[in-house]
Amino acid sequence: MPATSLDTIVSLCKRRGFVFPSSSVYGGLGSTWDYGPLGVELKNNVKRAWWRSVVHERDDMEGLDAAILMNRLVWKYSGHEATFSDPMTDCRACKTRPRADHVFAAQKGRDPKGLPEINAAIEAKELVCPKCGSKDLTPARPFNLMFKTSVGAVDSGDDSGLVYMRPETAQGIYVNFGNVLDTMRRKLPFGIAQVGKAFRNEITPGNFTFRTREFEQMEIEYFVRPGEDEAAHEAWIAERQNWYLNLGMRRENLRVREQEKHELAHYAKRCVDLEYRFPMGWSELEGIANRTDYDLKAHSRSPENPDAVGELKYFDQELKKHLVPYVIEPSAGADRATLAFLCDAYEDALVKEPPAEENTRLRELVESFAKSVGRREGMAADVKQRLVSAAESIAAGLPGTLPQLIGLMEDSEAAAIEVMKKVRGVGEKIAEEHTRTVLHLHPRLAPLTVAVFPLKRNDARLVELARGLKRDIQRSGVRAVYDDTGAIGKLYRRQDEIGTPWCITVDFQSLDDQTVTVRDRDTMQQERLKITDLGPTIAARLT
Ligand code: ATP
Repeated sequence: MPATSLDTIVSLCKRRGFVFPSSSVYGGLGSTWDYGPLGVELKNNVKRAWWRSVVHERDDMEGLDAAILMNRLVWKYSGHEATFSDPMTDCRACKTRPRADHVFAAQKGRDPKGLPEINAAIEAKELVCPKCGSKDLTPARPFNLMFKTSVGAVDSGDDSGLVYMRPETAQGIYVNFGNVLDTMRRKLPFGIAQVGKAFRNEITPGNFTFRTREFEQMEIEYFVRPGEDEAAHEAWIAERQNWYLNLGMRRENLRVREQEKHELAHYAKRCVDLEYRFPMGWSELEGIANRTDYDLKAHSRSPENPDAVGELKYFDQELKKHLVPYVIEPSAGADRATLAFLCDAYEDALVKEPPAEENTRLRELVESFAKSVGRREGMAADVKQRLVSAAESIAAGLPGTLPQLIGLMEDSEAAAIEVMKKVRGVGEKIAEEHTRTVLHLHPRLAPLTVAVFPLKRNDARLVELARGLKRDIQRSGVRAVYDDTGAIGKLYRRQDEIGTPWCITVDFQSLDDQTVTVRDRDTMQQERLKITDLGPTIAARLT
């Protein structure tokens, strides 16, 4: 069963060293996260797979790594200083400050057309505070999302040293358009790719790493002749979907959503979002926009921009004239993609049936949990309904529904019910012995590719052979670890939970004939391979 709640993924990530709450020794800093030993491997693999696909495997792309701090004028002429903001309203009754466009959308059932429409609704008392229900809301005001800092040793007290932490990597690409064009002698169409940190003072961060204030983007600006933009846009939409699918994302969890006219930025001709079905619902994974010639023109010297030193344009040899290319922008998030791959790969599966009496005891407890939720007062009706129906169907289906029970045991709302403690006391032990958690990550994304175990850790010959094997595999560039801290069954389970595709066990037969068992994470099948065949076999499976 795949993950049905983000809590399940958060719990796995903390337990197994993928992602930790940031600054936890000081109580944390809301919505900031640190990638742990396995998380950094996974996210690096996602970024590497992206780079390989959009730079190395194409003939029309170059890479770039621009600075995070840029001249403030970049953000003035890109439009971010004036318009990169969210509309906020203050509730005079409870003093909260919700996002006015979200309040409008939730209460009117559609997105607002702009600030005037939101404010008309506030003035007509058509909107209420989502926290306390009051209609006493202030007119919505724009709140800029860029983080400010200053350069230089002296704080002059004015804005002379003001710089922004970039809120997107894209502008670094536009302002380097001429540099890349000249140095790499490129002809249209061609593109520039960049991976890097971006910062936004988001009003409502949340859903784990889905929306944070510091995150990483993977952005492409693809420059084409005007007139060739629509076909290039279509090609990138297909290309980017295939990237996710080729890395194992399930087709039913990925969809393309065409942005409606009123959602489009004023300069965008068209924009589609690739959306993933996260546990909290369909949400944006990547935006692919046709931004026309807006950005290159915005950073070119003109009556509107007297600060730019020159023009960002292209001399078309065939047409014998200068033109300003159109830009197609596939803009993805490394953190969001990583989270989506994690959610997609997650599975709790029953591997063997528990004894009948244990199963009966568990069923009775889950039934009593359902009854207890049903009797509970003061619980929101939708939560009650969700928990009761989940518990009833789990109880009826045990032991086949043990994987679903794991999800329920990790549900933060279910934890508030007293009987859940008893359910967990019995359920966790049964789940531990009879189910396994697996991350079916694509081998190229998995944090570790191979784990090597000796059958007995107190046999020096097995240990030496296993350690040597690990070193040889690692030397060939494949991420491998050695582990002898438990029985083989337990070690397999640990590796399944973090998505390691192959476990290699060195046993006594290995000493005689130089063969080992290779156990496949997904099928749990074991095969015997010659040690000399391991390298080529793993390399072939990694492609
Ligand atoms: P959203 O509507 O979800 O806020 P956006 O449309 O503002 O996203 P873009 O400006 O198009 O996002 O950024 C491109 C990509 O960068 C997004 O598709 C997403 O993957 C990623 N991204 C944007 N903001 C964040 C954030 N606060 N945290 C994590 N990733 C983000």
